[in-house]
Amino acid sequence: MSAPATTDFETIIGLEVHAQLTTKSKMFCPCSVDYYGAPPNTLVCPVCLGLPGALPVINQQALEYVAMTGLALHSTIAERSKFDRKNYPYPDLMKGYQISQYDAPICAQGWLAIDVDGQTKRAALTRIHLEEDVAKLFHRRDPVSGEAYSLVDVNRSGVPLMEIVGEPDLRSPEEARQYLIKLQSILRYLGVSQADMEKGNFRCDANISIRPRGSPTLMSRVEVKNMNSLRSVYRALEFEAQRQRQAVQEGGRVVQETRGWVEERGETVAHRSKEQAHDYRYFPEPDLPPMAFTPEWIEALRRRLPELPDARRERFMRQYSLPPYDAGLLTASRALADLYERCVAGADSKRYKAAANWLLGELSRLLNVTGTDVSEVKITPAGLAELLDLLEAGGINQTAAKEIFEAMFRSGRAPREIMQEKGLAQISGADELGSLVQQTIAANAKAVADYAAGKDTALGFLTGQVMRATKGRANPTVVQQLLRERLAKESVQ
Ligand SMILES: [Zn+2]
Repeated sequence: MSAPATTDFETIIGLEVHAQLTTKSKMFCPCSVDYYGAPPNTLVCPVCLGLPGALPVINQQALEYVAMTGLALHSTIAERSKFDRKNYPYPDLMKGYQISQYDAPICAQGWLAIDVDGQTKRAALTRIHLEEDVAKLFHRRDPVSGEAYSLVDVNRSGVPLMEIVGEPDLRSPEEARQYLIKLQSILRYLGVSQADMEKGNFRCDANISIRPRGSPTLMSRVEVKNMNSLRSVYRALEFEAQRQRQAVQEGGRVVQETRGWVEERGETVAHRSKEQAHDYRYFPEPDLPPMAFTPEWIEALRRRLPELPDARRERFMRQYSLPPYDAGLLTASRALADLYERCVAGADSKRYKAAANWLLGELSRLLNVTGTDVSEVKITPAGLAELLDLLEAGGINQTAAKEIFEAMFRSGRAPREIMQEKGLAQISGADELGSLVQQTIAANAKAVADYAAGKDTALGFLTGQVMRATKGRANPTVVQQLLRERLAKESVQ
């Protein structure tokens, strides 16, 4: 289908997310799921090795995690569900088939609320189902013969994998990014997945097409794979939307195909077509019984749901009078929101905004710089409270507070201790500062003359001189006040 070059196109995106579940054991055997960093092929048994005759047993916790995710995402939990065999020959599949779900997934429909440009939008979900992860392949080349070969690590094989299939409701790469961020946040709140794209336990494929704005006609869609970070999802979708527009505007058409994102080149490339011709020949898994979920079981899971990020943000806005932006940032991470609530527990309400500023400002900066996870933060609520006390009482100034905060972040020690050790206590005494102020006035005749001539900036300069002489420890308000008094006397004389 071609369209005139002037056509305004809209982008249609649907995402498929695979999230590994943080159960203790694998989906159908007792092997540990904790394979990250484990030596290859050490977390295996006859079941996940796919040996003939080995019988799978359903992991109950994985079913609970999927159903809890479904409840959190407003899905309908099926009364009956079953596992199916998805057949395809590939070296990462130990049995020659993957146990997955075909026509009776655990969860159907549902939605995810995302915020884009200050608007809240509901992106609909198709289904959530459960399957087993496959082995990991490492492609190598022999340095001598140049021959290509592959190694198989079966540790990942059989790890419970939840697939969340979204409707093509997203209209831009930014909406796709927000969708993934929100989904990660919810899965982490539920504690069902680490949802870490870089570690590969949260993976995303995208379907993307374009169409003339307002037209109901869908053009051929392209499936994009190999996106390993939020940034690469965004970049790949930007690239692909642009590529498709260009193809149509040049009178060509979009070919329905699977393309892989190549990070280094910043582009998608077509996968070989034989990889797309799938006939999975699904049939019910004969070694596993069908499942029935009772309303009592579902209600018990519903009661286990924690307060989720959207509800918590609303509460933070109400309870702590925080602006929506601050409340959103604080509650995006359960660990950060927990830390905030511990920091303001029992505190005066004027502390609410101050504590938020420290956690979203300095703490977030330090977490980024050091690559630390918020769950590992050493700063204690009592420590932050003491720091805010010191600041409010004028015991330290803002610069010193930042230095102390950083030391608290690194060591977890109490702020007063750090202040004394580093000599960061603020000098507020008029006696101590008076002589410094006098010396500064005597040494800066020009600035004094400027001030007398009505130049207010001269006062800032003189204050800066005193601050420098005290290595930033002087109380700037007291310094300015003293300077004004002395300068007023100077001009009278
Ligand atoms: Zn096993």
